[in-house]
Amino acid sequence: MIELKTPREIALLREAGRVVASALAAVRAHAAVGVSLRELDREAAKVIKGAGAKPAFLNYHPSWAPVPFPGVICVSINDAVVHGIPDKTRLADGDLVSIDCGAFLQGWCGDAAISFIVGQPDPEDVALIDATDAALQRGIAAALVGHRLGDVGHAIGDVVRGAGYGLLADHGGHGVGRAMHEAPYVLNEGKPGHGYRLRPGLVIALEPMLISGGTDEYLTDPDGWTLRTASGTKASHSEHTIAITDDGPLVLTAA
Ligand code: MG
Ligand code: MG
Repeated sequence: MIELKTPREIALLREAGRVVASALAAVRAHAAVGVSLRELDREAAKVIKGAGAKPAFLNYHPSWAPVPFPGVICVSINDAVVHGIPDKTRLADGDLVSIDCGAFLQGWCGDAAISFIVGQPDPEDVALIDATDAALQRGIAAALVGHRLGDVGHAIGDVVRGAGYGLLADHGGHGVGRAMHEAPYVLNEGKPGHGYRLRPGLVIALEPMLISGGTDEYLTDPDGWTLRTASGTKASHSEHTIAITDDGPLVLTAA
């Protein structure tokens, strides 16, 4: 069932989204060569706790995962696409870092992700991240009342495939509300004019997951969580939670 949110509920979702944006900004500011992924996790935890919110990922245990997620954020480095575990690993020069963060405030969820490079950037990695952000922005711009979910997915996929990148197979965006993952599922590569018709009050997370080199295949690490590109090439992930409104898309996880 797809649940539409009232303007008051959207205002509460916006507050949760602000906490997530602040946590991501703190992680990004702290990230540098030599810093451990656990330190980044602690930065996010501090911001979320300080705002009176609760981390959405910590101990999250979907049926397919062998163990509950052990971190506040997902940290996915280089060929890791999503769901990387924040461990003792230290960031190295040129690492492409993707951070995914979710938090609940007063029972409402925000979910967002950013990708960036620490140290000396490889121009190919910069281009990959730029394409990821461009795909996300195009998806948001297509999220208009009367359009369909397929139009949003088409806008995202068009940027990604047009630039020659792959899209992580079997993964896409989702509804957000009192739960982090709600209906509907949002394909990152949609058919224009197909799918659920967008209406005011729909809240969805859009999250293009790009793979350099053009293939979509992935492998799961022995930890049961981390998804890596099958080709060993790098990956990038950007995400915002947005609300469909009569005045256009409202980015709930904007800073
Ligand atoms: Mg996320
Ligand atoms: Mg998400």
